[in-house]
Amino acid sequence: MNIKSNEIASLIKQQIKNYSHKVESNDVGSVVTVGDGIASVYGLDQVMLSELLEFPHGVFGMAMNLNEDSVGAILFGNDSLIEEGDIVKRTHRVVEVPVGDGLLGRVVNSLGQPIDGLGEIKYDHTRPIERIAPGVMTRKSVDTPLETGIKAIDTMIPIGRGQRELIIGDRQTGKTAIAIDTIINQKGKNVLCVYVAIGQKNSTVVQLVEKLKEHDAMSYTTVVSATASELAPLQYIAPYSGVTIAEEWMEQGKDVLIIYDDLSKHAVAYRTLSLLLKRSPGREAYPGDVFYLHSRLLERACKLSKDYGGGSITALPIIETQAGDITAYIPTNVISITDGQIFLQTELFNAGQRPAIDSGLSVSRVGSAAQFKCVKSVAKSLKIELANFHELQAFAQFGSDLDDATKRILIHGNVLMEVLKQNQYQPKTFVEQTIEIFTAQNRFMDDLDIDKIKDFLDGLMIELKKDYNYLLDEIYNTKTLSSDVETKLIEAIKNYKEAYIN
Ligand code: ATP
Ligand code: MG
Repeated sequence: MNIKSNEIASLIKQQIKNYSHKVESNDVGSVVTVGDGIASVYGLDQVMLSELLEFPHGVFGMAMNLNEDSVGAILFGNDSLIEEGDIVKRTHRVVEVPVGDGLLGRVVNSLGQPIDGLGEIKYDHTRPIERIAPGVMTRKSVDTPLETGIKAIDTMIPIGRGQRELIIGDRQTGKTAIAIDTIINQKGKNVLCVYVAIGQKNSTVVQLVEKLKEHDAMSYTTVVSATASELAPLQYIAPYSGVTIAEEWMEQGKDVLIIYDDLSKHAVAYRTLSLLLKRSPGREAYPGDVFYLHSRLLERACKLSKDYGGGSITALPIIETQAGDITAYIPTNVISITDGQIFLQTELFNAGQRPAIDSGLSVSRVGSAAQFKCVKSVAKSLKIELANFHELQAFAQFGSDLDDATKRILIHGNVLMEVLKQNQYQPKTFVEQTIEIFTAQNRFMDDLDIDKIKDFLDGLMIELKKDYNYLLDEIYNTKTLSSDVETKLIEAIKNYKEAYIN
């Protein structure tokens, strides 16, 4: 067959025309600069915000800054493998993590990849880590308690399923301990847990997982870990990955508890990568959108209404303060986003008051709506009594001759403080909490030595379980303290105390 030369030319032209149709030139770009876990990429005109980008050597990144002539990307892998001029490909997907029951009992990194040496994670789908939080119309107010098993919290600062309660305090004041005890207490309560470790030491996370295993709590828990040795970008996305895993369960109608330990380090990681991305620094050198960083995260915790499955995510973010300063930038931000805070005090902690909860500065704005009636009835005056006690305590330091009324308040306050002490890994049921506070509030222990109180209460519980189990059952089943039960309880405690003293 004869083909004329001008036909060949037109054929080639046609081919070139079609070819340029098939390949989107803006699907690939090239690295301009790279370092500190950040790459600047030229040529990705159409890239989406938060889109996953593929770099050579199996390194992935995420588009963070969409500038006019370049894209600033954070890298999730070893940046020393990447060089200037390397090809970067779009993936047309935002960053996603695997979700579902296959994650229970597992420790994963911020990308949902297993790091516990237990092999592949089984999952049938993934979810994007950024998502708009459920709207107001799909939500419902909290109505079920999330029991922490910690007396001081469940009685005075109750948390409801779907609530966001901040745990705040200086370093080494027992913040993580509260979170872990709460996870341990969810055993058998149909609550799945996600613990997100951000910027902590590797060894701390390993120990924590061991503790959870020891208390049989890993079977309903997923740990997402981005330790201090990891790149800032991985620390930055860790909480979003965690809440994405939780959201899958919430949408299946389940209750989930998520802990972010801690968001101060998260803010620092974000500040690091923002500065490297050349975003302008604001107050305390944090970028201007640092409030949005945490608000869009915590807004994803909620209780869904029945029509949407009735699931919930309860969020316990943790913030570390410097020298008890809760008025610093990040603490005030997160305080204003959450529904209350549990404030831990170094002085209390060092004085042996553990958990070191400051009842005056701690508050739960919505949780009492979900509190069991029996706990509410015995605990209603607790906070005020402690406030009075602390006020008088300050005065009592100066004078020795106090009137009887003052002395009584001081003695009773000391008893209450003692009753609120609780060891780690020893969560108490709401029935036990009710009885212990009830015993204190009926002044059964005001005449005991302070160091006898724990022993007295432990003995009382054993006695009640032995001879008065029907009373405990009734409180457990009705969740209330009827006057009939109250009378019988007082009788029982009286008998026990008589035997105890003699
Ligand atoms: P960091 O700032 O290092 O994260 P943190 O505030 O999370 O510290 P934890 O690690 O929870 O504090 O606790 C500090 C220490 O106090 C630990 O050794 C822990 O075992 C101990 N501790 C915490 N709570 C209690 C408690 N209720 N009873 C006795 N010891 C406790
Ligand atoms: Mg901690």
